[in-house]
Formats: sequence, structure tokens, C-alpha cells
Amino acid sequence: MKADVVVVGAGIAGTGVTHFLAEGGLRVVLVDRNYPGQEATGRSAGFLVSQHWNDHDAALARASREIITGVHPEGESGFTTSGFLRLTSREEDIPVMRDRAREIQKTGIQAEVLKGRKLSRRFPWLRSAGLAGGLFTPEDGYVDPYEVATGFLERARAQGAELLVNSPVKKLTIQGTRVRGVVAGKTTVEADAVVLTLGPWTRGLLHAHGIELSVKGYRVQALVTAPIPDLPALPMLHEIPHGYYLRPEGTGLLVGDGTEYDEADPETYDREADFALYTDLAAWLTRRVPSAAAAMVTRGWAGLCQATPDRLPLAGELAGWEGLYVLVGFNGLGVMRSPPLAQALAAHLLGRPAALDLDPFRPDRFESGLDFPIHEGFTLQ
Ligand SMILES: Cc1cc2nc3c(=O)[nH]c(=O)nc-3n(C[C@H](O)[C@H](O)[C@H](O)COP(=O)(O)OP(=O)(O)OC[C@H]3O[C@@H](n4cnc5c(N)ncnc54)[C@H](O)[C@@H]3O)c2cc1C
Repeated sequence: MKADVVVVGAGIAGTGVTHFLAEGGLRVVLVDRNYPGQEATGRSAGFLVSQHWNDHDAALARASREIITGVHPEGESGFTTSGFLRLTSREEDIPVMRDRAREIQKTGIQAEVLKGRKLSRRFPWLRSAGLAGGLFTPEDGYVDPYEVATGFLERARAQGAELLVNSPVKKLTIQGTRVRGVVAGKTTVEADAVVLTLGPWTRGLLHAHGIELSVKGYRVQALVTAPIPDLPALPMLHEIPHGYYLRPEGTGLLVGDGTEYDEADPETYDREADFALYTDLAAWLTRRVPSAAAAMVTRGWAGLCQATPDRLPLAGELAGWEGLYVLVGFNGLGVMRSPPLAQALAAHLLGRPAALDLDPFRPDRFESGLDFPIHEGFTLQ
């Protein structure tokens, strides 16, 4: 089988690159060892918000929203505006929130810091005991990442891209320093370029060829509740420092925790939620949103996110190799980060000007290899 580009890994990153490459007129084959969207992408909460700890991310999230709403118009599995309220129990976070609010306002997006009575009056369903305040961005919202990936894929296939499912890639075809394709299950795909979007599995595939990539997998977990009678309309919530969050899911809620700081083995990680998650999140819900205290949990799960030493993604060609590209390392923010990076990487492969400079995301920018700690991805600073 022949292609101009073979993309390995059909999550939101891989389907995104495939979409942009196919739209640019290249013959693309996308392969996955399973079906599209079965890993982090299909397990994600889908927050797409404007509150970020650096300018790169603020810009990426704005671009991601534009791309996603262009593929799926609002209301049809596209973007749902609910507002986003980030809460903190630490007084020292309030000046940081005020700075963030000013930065967000400069981009034309509404942002407001609320404290004390103002916070309680605006959100009467919130029990604010122990809180220093919160940063509210009413235009923020969420998407269904599985639907986003499916949308990218449908577009790509309409442009002639091919999908190979149940086709694990265990080997790249390499001549000297030039990549020539992959072996995907029983199929050999010849291609001028290979883009690896296998999330934390990328490291193992490259390692088999003696190439080291600074990316580690770590678990994050979420659960959903049955419909909750008389639940008021809630914005998305995220409480720091512990990292619990929620958003509406139908007439119930999707609730999650933050980062697990231990590295997880992508081949053996536990896909079920820990029992402690249910009790911890129930306690948090009862404390913060008493009207959701009687929520019945219907299911929970864990998925793998991808950590890098500086918490920024890896996007571009691997130094010393021709035609071998990666797009990984989203540090828990792949919905907000990957679409514009996929678009820029595709532009690079198409030899066209990109809307985004990929230099800050060069995959070879570290010397630390794998000796780095895993940090929370979704932070205020
Ligand atoms: C519970 C949870 C909540 C999250 N919430 C948010 C959020 O609110 N906002 C946000 O921006 N991000 C969030 N994320 C993170 C986001 O979902 C991920 O960053 C993003 O989905 C990563 O997409 P990906 O395409 O890089 O990887 P994945 O979706 O993990 O896809 C990797 C693909 O590679 C395939 N693969 C693996 N090995 C092979 C092989 N050998 N051969 C072929 N294919 C292979 C897998 O089958 C998989 O389909 C969350 C993640 C989780 C788990």
C-alpha cells in the first residue's frame, strides 16, 4: 500500500493531521491498533477554555475552538457554551487570577474575578466555604472530543484518506536516516513521511528503533452521573489546588480529578477508575454543590495523558531523521492544543506557510531525556 504520508494513532491528534493533510491534497493513510478515539480522546472531558498559564496555550485554545467549530457547527456535537469557573482556596492565587483576567480581556474575551459575597450572589448553588475566590470566563465551554475526532476523520475520508483499523504498528521502515513507511498489522504502508500521534505509545515505538522521546504516560480519571433532579444550570468548575472538576453531561454531570504524578505503563495501565475516586469526588460535590449531593454515578474510567519536561507539546520532525514527525505530549490538554498544532504540522508537510510557529514545540529541545517529574497540566501558572 502506498501513500504520501502515513499517520499512526487515530485520536484527536492523528485524525486532525489526517484531515489537514487530505484537505491539502495529499494521499494519507491513518492507522490505529484499535478503532479511532478509543484511548484518551474517547475518555476526555473536552474542556476548551481561555484560562491558561502561558500565551502559547491561550492562543492554541482560541485557534482550537475556531477549528473545531468550523468542522462541527455549535449545537451538533460541537462547542457547548457553559462558562468556566476556576475556584481556589489559596488567597495567593487571587492576584494571579487578576493578571490572567486582564490578559484574557485583552483578547476580547470576558473574564472576571469574583470573591466573597459577589461569588455567592452570582452562583447561589455554590457552597463557597473555604474558597478565596474564582476566575469566571462566561464564554468558555466544552466539546465531545470523540465527536471532534470523528468529524476530522469523516472530512479526511471524503477527501480520499484511508483508515486502517486493528492494525498495530510495531515497526517503522527506515533506510539509513530516512523513514520509508510502517508495518501496520499485516500491511506494509510505503510513504514519504510518517507522523506519529500514538500519545504515550509513541515512546515505545521509537525506542524499538533506538530513538528516545521525552514523553511519559500518566493516568487521569473521570466519572459520569445519572440525571440529577432539579440541578441548576452549572458552568464548568475546576477547583485548585487539588484539581477536581465538573461539567454538565446531559442532565447529569461529568466529574474528574487531576493528574496522577506516577508514570503509567501504556501497555498495562488500569482503565477502570479507582474506588477512592468515587468517594473523593462525592465528598467534593457534596461540599461545593449541595444540590448534586444525591448524584448516582453510572460509570467511571481512567485514560492516559502524556507528560513532557516543560509541559509543552512535541510537534515536528525528529532531528537526525528525514520524514519522521511526532505530534504528542499534550500534558492533559490535547483537545485545546492539538488541532492548531495538527494544522501547522500539516502545513509544514505540504510546504505551505503555517498560521503557527512550531519552533517552541521542537521535539528535540530537551537534554533531560526521561528524567523529569510529571506536573499537573491544567494550572493557573
Ligand atoms: C479523563 C480525561 C479528561 C481529559 N480532559 C481534557 C480536557 O478537558 N481538555 C483537554 O484539552 N484535554 C483533556 N484530556 C486530554 C486529551 O483527551 C488528550 O490530550 C488527547 O485526547 C490526546 O489525543 P491523542 O490523539 O494524542 O492520543 P490518544 O487519544 O490517546 O490516541 C492515541 C492513539 O494511538 C493508538 N495507538 C497506540 N499504539 C498504537 C500502535 N502501536 N499502532 C497503531 N496505533 C496505536 C491508540 O489506539 C489511540 O487511538 C483529558 C484526558 C482524559 C483521559
